[in-house]
Parts: sequence; structure tokens; C-alpha cells
Amino acid sequence: MKKGLLVVVSGFAGTGKGTLMKKLVSDYDNYALSVSMTTRAPRPGETNGKEYFFVTKEEFEKTISEDGLVEYANYVGNYYGTPKQYVTDQLAAGMNVILEIEIQGALKIKERFPEALLLFVMPPSAAELKRRLVGRGTETEDVIEKRLKRAIEESEGIEQYDYILVNDDCQICLEQMHAVIESAKWAASRNTDFIEQIRSELKEL
Ligand code: 5GP
Repeated sequence: MKKGLLVVVSGFAGTGKGTLMKKLVSDYDNYALSVSMTTRAPRPGETNGKEYFFVTKEEFEKTISEDGLVEYANYVGNYYGTPKQYVTDQLAAGMNVILEIEIQGALKIKERFPEALLLFVMPPSAAELKRRLVGRGTETEDVIEKRLKRAIEESEGIEQYDYILVNDDCQICLEQMHAVIESAKWAASRNTDFIEQIRSELKEL
């Protein structure tokens, strides 16, 4: 069985990546969404073990010292990290494992797992991003301003990703994401073992 692909998905707040990820997991059967560990407080409606594993700073640091995370980062004063066990188990079971994480973590994953695929979800335009953030109605004007400023910083790193995906129509973006992931599996650089195997079989003929 072919091993699954490790896929990192980043994007500005308000690009709709959360909805995309939920649809990816429900519409296709070979995706596993990693649940991160965080020290930030749960928002109303969030459940422990579903959106995140909510832990204390001490518990988080203990997990770091036990080498239980594949990556972690400090984001706006809180720790966020990806538990290792789930990722390794799901990849071994042939699933594509999705990490919805920010850029510092994404770059650490690329360093540690060079075969990982890095995707960045973009809004169709900056004006549309603002419209979506305002339209949600869940954030104050001040928070919206902070998120837009943060988007300017995050936009500096996009060239380090493998592909961008524009989320204009959610269904089209979802299908493109699946297609990119399936195609990426056939990159020569991700199939060096198979190439080597054919090479040595050829010599045996
Ligand atoms: P939020 O607090 O809005 O849920 O998440 C804040 C940011 O942390 C988002 O950009 C999200 O993608 C990122 N994030 C969530 N989990 C992880 C993780 O395990 N590692 C890293 N590096 N970032 C994460």
C-alpha cells in the first residue's frame, strides 16, 4: 500500500480554510485531519478533542520534552503544536494527513519532512477577504484590523509554499485541492524508492 502524503494547509483568517478542510474529510475517504494541541482557551462552541486538545502550558511543555510533537509554534502568545502519534499512524495506514497550521510550523514540517506538500489558501482579492471577515459578524472592528495586518505579514512567506489555491467558489477550490494532492503523489522526487526499484530490476533482466 502506498503511504499517504503529509499535507500542510495555511491561509489568512477568513479565507474559509476551516470549511474546506471539513468538506475534504467528509467528501473523500482518504484524508485524516490532525487535531492540534494548544494552550489557548476554547472559544464558545469548541470541544476538547474536536477542534483542539486544550491543555495547560505545563502539559504542553511536558509533551515537548517527551518529543511528542512533530512541530510547534508560539502564535499570538499561545503554544500550538501537532501531536506526533496520530500523524505517523495515519500516514502508515495510507491516509493523507492534513495539518491546518500557520507558517512557522509549516516551514518546520518542510524541514523535517521534505516530502510534505505545502498549500496556501488565498482569497480571490483583498477586498473580498475583508468583506468575509466583516460578514462573519463574530469579530469587532479592532480584531478585523489586527487580522488584516497579520495577513500582510503572513503574505510575505507564500512563495515558500508549493501551491496556492484560490477559494472563490468553495466546491471548485475543494476539487482543485484534491487534484493537486493526488498529482503531487506522482512527483518524481516523492517516488525515489520506486524509481530505484525499477532501475535495479532493469539491470536484472
Ligand atoms: P486559532 O487560535 O485561530 O484556532 O489558530 C491560530 C493559528 O494557529 C491559525 O493560523 C492556525 O492555523 C494555527 N495552528 C493551529 N494549530 C496549529 C499547530 O498545531 N501548529 C502550528 N504551528 N500552528 C497551528
